Amino acid sequence: MAHFDAVIVGAGPAGLSAALVLGGGRRKVLLLDGGPGRNVRAVAAHGVFTRDCTPPADLKRLGLADLAPYDVTVISSVAREIKPAAGGFTLQVEQAWYFARRVLFATGVRDVLPGIPGLRERWGKLVHHCPYCDGWPNRQARLAVLGSHQEGHHLALSVRAWSDHVTLLTDGPDELTPEQRADLRKLDIDLVDTKIRRFTGTQTLTAHFENRAACTFDALFLNPTQTQNSTLPAGLGCELNDKSRVVVNENGMTSVRGVWAAGDMTGAAQYVVSAAASGHTAAVSLNTTLIHENVRAQGAAFHESPDESAGVGEA
Ligand SMILES: Cc1cc2nc3c(=O)[nH]c(=O)nc-3n(C[C@H](O)[C@H](O)[C@H](O)COP(=O)(O)OP(=O)(O)OC[C@H]3O[C@@H](n4cnc5c(N)ncnc54)[C@H](O)[C@@H]3O)c2cc1C
Repeated sequence: MAHFDAVIVGAGPAGLSAALVLGGGRRKVLLLDGGPGRNVRAVAAHGVFTRDCTPPADLKRLGLADLAPYDVTVISSVAREIKPAAGGFTLQVEQAWYFARRVLFATGVRDVLPGIPGLRERWGKLVHHCPYCDGWPNRQARLAVLGSHQEGHHLALSVRAWSDHVTLLTDGPDELTPEQRADLRKLDIDLVDTKIRRFTGTQTLTAHFENRAACTFDALFLNPTQTQNSTLPAGLGCELNDKSRVVVNENGMTSVRGVWAAGDMTGAAQYVVSAAASGHTAAVSLNTTLIHENVRAQGAAFHESPDESAGVGEA
């Protein structure tokens, strides 16, 4: 069975960034690349330091190329099972088993979109979730926001910073309070509370309603619900919060000793650079525990620093 210092499960921005740090830390790393990341449908990634407007596939290619000098083995496959073992963990990839002293999950989340026909096909092209990612290309455009309660109200008010032409679509009866309706009027946000039959269009997005003329928009924003992409963290016993995110401390440590998590799957802000930053932080923390373990094995010990947050050097 091949042995590694760490296995990183997931090769999105969080996993690639963690691999870079651990590779540079002279660790023997296994990086499992289970396929495209969350933003695969997007034309370009925005707000990415020094790489603004780069297509997601190019970001991934660049991230993988950065790993070339290091002892990072990349396998283009998913981890099927991970089990605790003496001194670490064993994991199955296809038919083979591997051993790793530490595990870092960077498996991301899955967006669950409303079932209105025509919405999913336009995800990442005309249908977006985040104005920081897709607001600028749609500035002063005809924007729709889909949402029927507090989140729709919140997103519509936010998106208004990018355009004067915002319509909130509630897709039928809504849960807006009189105060929230008044807010919409104050910000000149139109409200359409008719059931939507379907969305059509390639360059623009047309909403077809049940009892009203269709409306055409340049883009639509919504807040999808999300689930974990992988059941492995929960299977290993990692605690999830009520939003189904893996609970981590400020160093990315999960509730399971020897297991870290980073990126969208945690409570980290859901942006490329935030995911990369949390992968970096988690990798440093993970590597610190390896350094401490190795130092202890040689009979030496670090002086405990009062600035060191709890758990940083835990093996
Ligand atoms: C449509 C869209 C557009 C976006 N646009 C922007 C933007 O413009 N700017 C921006 O900053 N952010 C944007 N985002 C957000 C950004 O994509 C995410 O914040 C970022 O991708 C999170 O990185 P991650 O590494 O945590 O997860 P991901 O990028 O989702 O990567 C997780 C990886 O783990 C893999 N994986 C899952 N399970 C396993 C397993 N068992 N074994 C191996 N691998 C596994 C998955 O295949 C995936 O490749 C956008 C998101 C969406 C949905």
